[in-house]
Amino acid sequence: MTEYHPVTADVISDLAALLGGRNVSCDPDKLLSYSRDEVQGPFWQDGCLAEVVVFPEGTDHVAALARYANEKKIPLTARGAGTGLSGGAVPACRGIVVSFEKMNRIVELDRENLTITVEPGVITADINRAAAEAGLLYAGDPCSGDASYIGGNVAENAGGNKVVKYGPTGSHVLALEAVLADGSVTWFGGKRRKDVTGYDFVHLLVGSEGTLALITRIVLKLLPLPAEIVDLLVPFPDVATAVAFVPRIVTEGKVLPASVEFMDRRSINLTERFLNTRLPYSDAGAHLIIQLEGNDTESLADEYERIGDLCLAHGALEVFVADNRNSRDRLWKARKSITESVWAFHPGKNVNEDVVVPTAAVPELMRRLDEVASRLETSYVAFGHIGDGNMHVTVTPDRDLPERESLLHLVQDELYGIVKSLGGTLTGEHGVGLKRRDSIGLFLDGAQIDLIRRVKLAFDPNNILNPGKIVPWE
Ligand SMILES: Cc1cc2nc3c(=O)[nH]c(=O)nc-3n(C[C@H](O)[C@H](O)[C@H](O)COP(=O)(O)OP(=O)(O)OC[C@H]3O[C@@H](n4cnc5c(N)ncnc54)[C@H](O)[C@@H]3O)c2cc1C
Repeated sequence: MTEYHPVTADVISDLAALLGGRNVSCDPDKLLSYSRDEVQGPFWQDGCLAEVVVFPEGTDHVAALARYANEKKIPLTARGAGTGLSGGAVPACRGIVVSFEKMNRIVELDRENLTITVEPGVITADINRAAAEAGLLYAGDPCSGDASYIGGNVAENAGGNKVVKYGPTGSHVLALEAVLADGSVTWFGGKRRKDVTGYDFVHLLVGSEGTLALITRIVLKLLPLPAEIVDLLVPFPDVATAVAFVPRIVTEGKVLPASVEFMDRRSINLTERFLNTRLPYSDAGAHLIIQLEGNDTESLADEYERIGDLCLAHGALEVFVADNRNSRDRLWKARKSITESVWAFHPGKNVNEDVVVPTAAVPELMRRLDEVASRLETSYVAFGHIGDGNMHVTVTPDRDLPERESLLHLVQDELYGIVKSLGGTLTGEHGVGLKRRDSIGLFLDGAQIDLIRRVKLAFDPNNILNPGKIVPWE
């Protein structure tokens, strides 16, 4: 167990000298709010509280901070917008929380090289907008994109709604400026589409959850912005029929959709209640949202009619076409509000998971979950990025049981067991962080866990960068 230096009054005044007094806060309310992310319930130990929060304004500040913390051996936990769902930004070993909210500039949009260079504190949707204004697409699209920062997206390798066509955040990252644990500043990658010079450190840092380096600048790839988008909302009588249809979009429809999202009946009903709205066929067993893109109205119409006919031929109850901004926004608002609606109607402790299984195994996953849920007197809501087999499963107890906490852990363990037996994995996009750290051994063997520890220590010998995450250390 690493011994850390406490944040004393001397440390606070040193930090103020390095970063400026306005960029250092020990305000108790701030310490609390900057020590939490969106994980609901006490998945972390008590006492994961920042001792100080700092707000660097540029790479030079971050470098000075890392140099200092490394010398003193004080933990540094990077923080984006705190929308994480794994306790990744929670300071597990206390110390300094580094908020990137002041490093929020879009530095450059390069139309010749089709890149956008940003600081880590830029809100994801602002990058989507800046690219669109230039007639280009930044294809990262997590459901939290109106709030999350790009630094958090890169550190988590965030997925979202367009992974099926464009890949997760890491597919769009060409280069990263990083501050290493000892304060040195380096660029990994560049504005180049190919690069096999040495190891691929860019994509080692992507998804490293703040444990290997502090990311201070990001170069992202831009793509052509499709002129037309259409969303199909397709109710199916049951989960198995909906899931079985997904590969047909490609194999028989000959189309690579931008999104294929899944919502089970319970998630539709919760989001309807939350938004006080009604979706068509909300008593159907499952809905798919299929998003198609194109540049030509007629050929896109041909495509969506073909996919619509295919849906009806394979058991869909109906096909609703959202081809204007209003209807599309309404549909996506319903999809993006599911997480919040679960929290609104089942506040406090629930199990909110992010498992991935091979897509064809989703019906079996849900059949076995039904069995566990009824045996343990719980209900679950399942929705997510079915095009990638990435299901968000949220389990809540049916009644207020005194032992609900341990019950939820039992459900979580059973779920992980099922996922593993189906060839799946622990998390598709929310990350391991603190919340899933102690379960990683179910999915990775000892050799891999040992390698993670050794890579971490090669980057960060004093174990100051977001310590206590991803793998158990004691
Ligand atoms: C309603 C809702 C919907 C969501 N939908 C999606 C979704 O569709 N897809 C998806 O992938 N996720 C989703 N998430 C989860 C979350 O939004 C993502 O994980 C997001 O990438 C986190 O970004 P953030 O800025 O909030 O990061 P934080 O939560 O603040 O931090 C996340 C991790 O990044 C590290 N970090 C942050 N900045 C840096 C940096 N500059 N350098 C190094 N490390 C850093 C932190 O240490 C931490 O480990 C959702 C969350 C909510 C609440």
